[in-house]
Amino acid sequence: MTRTPQLPDGAGDATPLGFRSYPDPALMPCESCGAQPGEKHRATEPVPDEDQIELWVFDSVCEATDGCTVEGDGRCSHGHSSWLLTLGLI
Ligand SMILES: [Zn+2]
Ligand SMILES: [Zn+2]
Repeated sequence: MTRTPQLPDGAGDATPLGFRSYPDPALMPCESCGAQPGEKHRATEPVPDEDQIELWVFDSVCEATDGCTVEGDGRCSHGHSSWLLTLGLI
């Protein structure tokens, strides 16, 4: 015999989700540098020195201009480019 699963009492009374308006992430300022949508990202970290850059070239892992770890030619989730890209080294 099959049983129809029963919802617990009150389960249907909760305020439906999905009606709250969330801000569109594309319209939010950058979490790292505070750049407004459409603005260029600003570096939040000091420009790396040559030794650091050599390490990154060697490792093909790099930091973005906000300090996130990215691939040498990559961008972080905030939209900041790697230093190698920013400095025009690759
Ligand atoms: Zn940014
Ligand atoms: Zn980032």
